Amino acid sequence: MTFRTKIFLTAFTSAAIALAVATALLSWSIRRDLESRIQRDLTSEARIAAETLSHRTAATESDLDAEADALGRLMSARITFIAPDGRVVGDSELTLDQIHTMENHANRAEVVEARERGMGTSRRFSNTMQTEMMYVAMPVHNPNAPLLALVRVALPLTEVDQQLARVRHFALVGFGVGMAAALLLTWTFSALVSRRVHEIADEARRYAAGDLERPVRDFGSDEIATVARVLDDAVQNLGGRVSELAQDRARMEAILAGMVEGVLVVNEYGRVQLANDAARSMLRLPDPAGRHYFEIVRQPAIAEQIAGVLTGKPSESVELTGVGDAATTFIARTGPISSPGSRGAVVVLHDITDLRRADRIRRDFIANVSHELRTPLTAVRGYVEALLDESMEPEDARRFLEIIARHSARMERLVRDLLRLARLDAGQESIEGVAVSVETLFHEIQVELSDVLQARQQHVRQRIAADAGVVHGDSAKLHDALRNLLENAINYSPVSTSITLGAARRDGRILLTVEDEGPGIPDADLPRVFERFYRVDKARARSGKDPGGTGLGLAIVRHLIELHGGCVKAANRPGGGAIFTVELPG
Ligand code: ADP
Repeated sequence: MTFRTKIFLTAFTSAAIALAVATALLSWSIRRDLESRIQRDLTSEARIAAETLSHRTAATESDLDAEADALGRLMSARITFIAPDGRVVGDSELTLDQIHTMENHANRAEVVEARERGMGTSRRFSNTMQTEMMYVAMPVHNPNAPLLALVRVALPLTEVDQQLARVRHFALVGFGVGMAAALLLTWTFSALVSRRVHEIADEARRYAAGDLERPVRDFGSDEIATVARVLDDAVQNLGGRVSELAQDRARMEAILAGMVEGVLVVNEYGRVQLANDAARSMLRLPDPAGRHYFEIVRQPAIAEQIAGVLTGKPSESVELTGVGDAATTFIARTGPISSPGSRGAVVVLHDITDLRRADRIRRDFIANVSHELRTPLTAVRGYVEALLDESMEPEDARRFLEIIARHSARMERLVRDLLRLARLDAGQESIEGVAVSVETLFHEIQVELSDVLQARQQHVRQRIAADAGVVHGDSAKLHDALRNLLENAINYSPVSTSITLGAARRDGRILLTVEDEGPGIPDADLPRVFERFYRVDKARARSGKDPGGTGLGLAIVRHLIELHGGCVKAANRPGGGAIFTVELPG
């Protein structure tokens, strides 16, 4: 049954009941009024008749009947005279013969009551008149009429019924009109109410579909409108909170996605609720959504941490190495989550691979520096102790002093190179970019190293392309870098060989090359020669008087060239010998 039908039926039934009750009450009250009026009229008529009769002289029955007929006409009612023994002695509606056939009236209710109380009333069906009658009887005190003891006035109640029938007719018409009006009103009202309820339902459906915009229509000001408005406010409120939550969630997801730390969240039942990209790649997790952490977390240490935290035990952080990539190291820390309505654990994975690598490099560096310094120091100390021996020949002493001087020079170079590297690391050296002539650059380093070149009978060739004559950069730093490369070429290639300094332009960049005819560098060592203290063959003695390089030269070169936004590469020439290429922005 629809809402509209319910409203309609309720209102219509109520109206029908009200109208029916009103009609019934009206009929009842009219009948009561009519009957009491008739009774009043009959009483006063009976009193008048009794009074009139108390002065008349009517000795015989025929006199009495005539008197009854006369009174009956006068009062338009049935008048009956009753003798002291109950016999009927006169009746306005009957002849004497008919009167004689009548029953004795001594026991009639109105007669008995009139004798006892001075007046009696009654209503009943009259066999004589064959109709419902109302009777009022009253005693008559007349010594001249000994046969007359009571007078009874009666009226048929048919008039009451007729009047009531008329009233009922009007009441029925009124009922019909009332019902038609009720029908029309309740139908219209139910249609209006139902339409408004449907409108509210439509709005609710729209909200349910996710469209939370406020309705433009006005719902009015009654209770239905209040309900609609309260619901609307509630939805708007909830909508606001939902969008705030969505924003929070989006923000949180963006934060988690952007974090380098891995984050894994499990609920109190151990089901994974969230794992950001970093956590997935660090732990090599398959799709974790809704799965138990036991199924996907393959690192027993982390699984143990989660299990411990979920059972309320405090957890220590653990360091794991080689979970995904052999070189990766991370620290896993697991903590409890206890927010209202939810409990669980959160694992945070912190990648410390770079930290560990930096630490290792630092330790290696310190070990290397210590080693590189200790070697010449030990030598210096040994020779100094030998010199202290007074029996030494002056020629030996001189040779020792020369060795001490060489080692001191090497230490000095080492310290100088270390300081330079430290400055470069700290970003304390900057580029003063100017146009530098490549030919001048080559010429200057060649002049600077001319003594060594001459000593080793090495010859330097230059091959400068026409479009690569000028390079943009810091001339002092480019000088240092190229000098270092030329020095290496001189030192690592045999005597009487040629070294070529080249300049060319390719893809808008300037390539400066230093080629030698030496043994070259083993392929496995090529990528590592730029590392600090890296030497291809640590046992290989360098030629000449130099007790050995610092192993820092190429590291400084790489730094200097990178400061220019360029790069440096080592390779072997197809025909033998090493080739170092400095690539600079054109
Ligand atoms: P070093 O002070 O030992 O020369 P560098 O950093 O300049 O240190 O060079 C690192 C290593 O690279 C050298 O020890 C050497 O083994 C190798 N190397 C550099 N230049 C050449 C070259 N032209 N030919 C062969 N090996 C070279």
